[in-house]
Amino acid sequence: MIELNTPISVLTRVGKTTAGRLKRIGLNTVEDLIFYFPFRYEDFSLIKKIQDLLPNEPVTIQGKIKLIANRRSFRKRKILTEALISNETGSVKAIWFNQPYLTKTFKVGDAVYLSGKLDETRFQFISPEYEKVSLDGAIHTGRLVPIYHLTEGVTQKQLRFLLKQTLPALKEIKDYLPKEIIERNKFVGLNRALSGIHFPNNQRAAGLAVRRLKFDELFLIQLAIQFIRKQIGENKAGKIRFLEKATKDFVSGLPFKLTNAQKKCAWEILRDLETERPMNRLLEGDVGSGKTVVVALAMLNAILNGYKVVMMAPTEILANQHYQTFRKLFEKQKFSVLLFTAGRKKKDGEKLSKAEVLACLEKAEFDIVIGTHAVIQENVKIKDLGLVVVDEQHRFGVEQRKSLLLKEKQKEFVSHFLSMTATPIPRTLVLTLCGDLDLSIIDEMPPGRKPIITRIVYEQDRLKAYEFIKKQIAAGRQVFVICPLIDPSDKLGVKSVKQEFEKLDKEIFPDLKIGLMHGRLKAKEKEAVMCEFVMGTIKILVSTSVIEVGIDVPNATIMMVEGAERFGLAQLHQFRGRVGRAGHQSYCLLFSESNSELTRKRLRYLEDCVDGFKLAEKDLELRGPGEVYGLRQSGLPDLKIASLSDVELISLAQKEAKGLVENKKMTPELEQALRKNNISMHFE
Ligand code: ADP
Ligand code: MG
Repeated sequence: MIELNTPISVLTRVGKTTAGRLKRIGLNTVEDLIFYFPFRYEDFSLIKKIQDLLPNEPVTIQGKIKLIANRRSFRKRKILTEALISNETGSVKAIWFNQPYLTKTFKVGDAVYLSGKLDETRFQFISPEYEKVSLDGAIHTGRLVPIYHLTEGVTQKQLRFLLKQTLPALKEIKDYLPKEIIERNKFVGLNRALSGIHFPNNQRAAGLAVRRLKFDELFLIQLAIQFIRKQIGENKAGKIRFLEKATKDFVSGLPFKLTNAQKKCAWEILRDLETERPMNRLLEGDVGSGKTVVVALAMLNAILNGYKVVMMAPTEILANQHYQTFRKLFEKQKFSVLLFTAGRKKKDGEKLSKAEVLACLEKAEFDIVIGTHAVIQENVKIKDLGLVVVDEQHRFGVEQRKSLLLKEKQKEFVSHFLSMTATPIPRTLVLTLCGDLDLSIIDEMPPGRKPIITRIVYEQDRLKAYEFIKKQIAAGRQVFVICPLIDPSDKLGVKSVKQEFEKLDKEIFPDLKIGLMHGRLKAKEKEAVMCEFVMGTIKILVSTSVIEVGIDVPNATIMMVEGAERFGLAQLHQFRGRVGRAGHQSYCLLFSESNSELTRKRLRYLEDCVDGFKLAEKDLELRGPGEVYGLRQSGLPDLKIASLSDVELISLAQKEAKGLVENKKMTPELEQALRKNNISMHFE
């Protein structure tokens, strides 16, 4: 019997190899398959008589095989399989390439369905979909045929065949959405939606299924957000008075004048801090726009009001950099700064043991603690914690916010919360997806920066570019090389960076030390590579897009991006921000093999535009929101079926989630659905 938790390997026609391949894309059980949605449909529902066929029209025909044979193509490179299919209304030819086994699959006399388009010059089907007529009905032809994202070695046909087998398990799935919401919005039931997404009877059924499933995805995310929001709203934060004199003194002690944008953002934050409503604000600003001092102003006021501050960074290196920076910034104030990461623990420049740091935290013998998420994993309560700052974390700190709230539950007040990011996400997007955030944007760069020279490099100029890189390195500079994800089954892009690394290491720059960085390295290994790069022993760092945001390698002057067309403009702009941190003239070289005019046009925006927000807007316009960011990195929720352009559904989901949370209508079914989607809510 097929049940939801039946392993895929048990299904008919799944071998060990196929099961292994499906595992790569996260498909282990029948339930996983059911929730693996197609991304589009091929409409072969139009069934026609052979005599009525028109060229270029997607259709399905039924007939018998009259003839089928293989032959070598003209240049002998390919094997062609040709067949003649006929029925009482006529005959038509079909041709397939490099599938010689088809002559074994089909015998003369077999009844088959073919789906495809008739080629207009040759008047035959070229590589049509095919399947034998059987009592079970057609899966690959004669209907709206779903198309799935594949992984290497698995075909559409295999997936569809497996999905067909999962149907009996559907009845086990219970609808978790409250009846009122279903009725109010005229959604189809979950079962119908799930069978409809894989096996729609018609366009309308597919549309209804898609609408329901998109809603569910967005709704669950919004539910989590609204829940947290409510939790926060029920608490009070400590009032942090704005200390004008101390703030002015601090600012006049800086070696530069604040930009207007920095002043505006600092003001917004300081005003939030003065109220009991817990601040939940996102500070956005391009790389180098000067977010750090803005944050410092908030810290200064919090500390002088008698509160402690926690700052979290995504990596040890970044935590360490922040530690150095804030120690210097607050030298005059003599604030005590702690560093707390897995590998490094320090207080005001001196190394400490873990027990000593924990003791400091416990006894509140510090002003600022900077660390990785290790800080919140430790079970220490920090007394008088007034402000938490999170730098470049995923999900805009929702996870961190949650963990902290959990800890603070017994306390009389919660802390103010500030996240910061260099990802230029347009205001409208942030608001629709993360409705509970206030937003401050530093939209102006400090004066006097040398603009980074950006150039698109085409294949014919590759060697020239390498020569240029050689010269820069000879002059003491360093280089980043970013590689795109090429093979979709290779989610972390390990394969492509390794290839590039080998090429540069062995062929192009054999006498230079080259580093390799990708998502499969352990945190420690990454740190080690990054360290060597920061120290300058590694001259060229080849990396996937995991390269830490915000890291400072002032000596790096070239950012070279392979397959640039595969990245969004905003993301490319972020890569570019990794160089040009010191006085040296810096360069961004975008390698592209694409000859498409549109691609060139898109990349050319980078040559002239240095404004991350403008580039993000341009991306939105040219590619649609789903494509704008490497979702994993931006911290935006990773959407499976919905997309950021489903504006109407996003606001509907927001409204329904809000209503449900306000009216305390949470159900165990919904909680379970949240857990299943890894949106855990351990609040109650
Ligand atoms: P980011 O927004 O990327 O975190 P930082 O805060 O690290 O940027 O600032 C980048 C550099 O610019 C730092 O060296 C900082 O001292 C400097 N800086 C910040 N604000 C200004 C300003 N108003 N004028 C000149 N330099 C500034
Ligand atoms: Mg920074």
